[in-house]
Amino acid sequence: MSKKASKRSSATRKSASRKLKGGYHFKLLAVDLTTGRVKQQPIGEDFALKYIGGRGFGAKLLYDHLDQIKEPLDPSNVIIIAPGPLTGAFLPASTKTSFVSLSPLTGIYGDSSMGGNWGVELRQAGYDGVVITGRAKELSYLWIDDDDVRVVPAPRLAGKGSLEAAGMIKGDLGDDDVKIATIGPAGENLVRFASVNCDWSRNSGRAGMGAVMGSKNLKAIVVRGSKDIPVADIERLRRATEASLVELASHHLFKFWQEQGLMSVIDYVNSAGVLPTRNFSDGVFAGAERINGFVMEQQYKIGDAACFACPMSCSNICLVKDGRYRGTVTEGPEYETACMYGSNLGVDDFSAILRANQLCDELGIDTISSGSLIGAMIEACESELLTAEDVDGLRLAWGNHEAILALAAKIAHREGIGDTLANGSRAVIERWPQLEPLVLQVKGMEQSAYDGRATLSMALAYGTCDIGASHNRAWTVAKELELGATWGLEEKADIVIYHQTVRPLFDMLGVCRLPWIELGFDESHYPEYYAAITGAETTLEELLAKSRAIYDLTRIISCGKGISRKDDYAPRRLFELPIQSGPWAGRKIDRAEYDALLDLYYDKRGWDRDGIPPAEVAAQFKDAVA
Ligand code: SF4
Repeated sequence: MSKKASKRSSATRKSASRKLKGGYHFKLLAVDLTTGRVKQQPIGEDFALKYIGGRGFGAKLLYDHLDQIKEPLDPSNVIIIAPGPLTGAFLPASTKTSFVSLSPLTGIYGDSSMGGNWGVELRQAGYDGVVITGRAKELSYLWIDDDDVRVVPAPRLAGKGSLEAAGMIKGDLGDDDVKIATIGPAGENLVRFASVNCDWSRNSGRAGMGAVMGSKNLKAIVVRGSKDIPVADIERLRRATEASLVELASHHLFKFWQEQGLMSVIDYVNSAGVLPTRNFSDGVFAGAERINGFVMEQQYKIGDAACFACPMSCSNICLVKDGRYRGTVTEGPEYETACMYGSNLGVDDFSAILRANQLCDELGIDTISSGSLIGAMIEACESELLTAEDVDGLRLAWGNHEAILALAAKIAHREGIGDTLANGSRAVIERWPQLEPLVLQVKGMEQSAYDGRATLSMALAYGTCDIGASHNRAWTVAKELELGATWGLEEKADIVIYHQTVRPLFDMLGVCRLPWIELGFDESHYPEYYAAITGAETTLEELLAKSRAIYDLTRIISCGKGISRKDDYAPRRLFELPIQSGPWAGRKIDRAEYDALLDLYYDKRGWDRDGIPPAEVAAQFKDAVA
């Protein structure tokens, strides 16, 4: 056999022995903004199989870069942006992309996922992820046009809102279809909970990914792709997709979901007595009927919007037709924004919530973190722990939306007290230690919009979430309220760990978790999708085991930054201040019971009682990327 023929036959053998026949381009894009150097970095099949994609790729690549990172806002930090193997494959809700970095808000592992179309376009440009280090000399955007990748100076975008900047870039390029992820002034000003925005109102909101981009002088990442997304078995994928669409559409709540999306949750959460009200001092809001999904539908909604290939179309386009905020048009709000800028701040004027939604999108700040911090400031003023002079003369009071919107803008621009709030919960507590009981945070991240006092499992979910007090790893409220009357600690620990395993799996695969949560879409569909797209047969258990390993990895990263049991407690308020009214009036979390649950949680995870994974677990992550 000739040398050439022998080479060919070994290549054929290699490809025949490959488990992965689709799902990946086996290529990352590595960009050093300091030098402007761009290179295509291969990834191996073992890496793709083990880490799957999205937050799995991000966690591993962050782990590999840790030694070189000085601090989150230093150019040495890395941001990894990765869709998953299912992103863009025409499956229902196959849309998500993870942003992963050392978080400027918490100082530990951080990530946030974004829907829309951006990640799909990146896959069409031929990449499984982008790895960005360094700092550009001047404000710039990264231009990815298939293999043509450049850092483009764009100083004229300085200070522009996220949407305005995206519009300017599209105008410059003469291309309205190009996909753009941008930061607003908050990201440029290094607000530690700055978000990244794409497709009008799709945000990577939590953990300060926008500030990491800002610290790199990176205003936007612009993508145009023209390649096919590799799929192992198109016919199998078509069958699975069609069956799934029929199943989703037959759900009794499908139409209602299309009409209201996450806004439908407000009534449920209010009647369950866990709606954040006046900085989580209560769980029932008297004005809930003025800010719920029906008000949105009947008075403000003018259209629907959806992420790529999503039949659920949960997003609502709203217009304010009269009054002070007349002319406000925005895509949203979804539940978290409606609560954190509504009931949590005593606001029962839906038009003001819409204005807040529009403003936060344009400024590029996370509505949960900013709404939470503004709530603490209002309570501090109402209870006379701070004076009007302390807050730049703003008349901070429950329901005063004009002062609230002014404070949101001050945060994004770091003006006056906005400068302190822009550094997050810890900075607020450091400046005003008397406010500590009022600030709801875990590991420096502000708590999401569900009261954890009625359900011990939700308190544990907040306490042990790897990025801080976020609901997006485990939202166990409904399950515990509906099924948990007889649950002991065992069931509570199990449900938190299961959620912390299955929900991150969606982030790894690159799909939205809402079909599973809201329409009961069975998670056993996902191994079938994965097999159709990648060609690798697998089981749900195997996929969950890989996700669970990533939870170990993110914990190892954060333990290396000093995280341990002391950081795994739900916010103080949940232990100290009982809910004031509603079905859970008088309820708070018992610390001894929480401690017993935390012990059990660690035991079940195989971590020691200080929350540290055993040393040998880290060894499995020392493998090579390619
Ligand atoms: S359910 Fe909503 S957030 Fe999820 S993919 Fe569909 S439109 Fe996007």
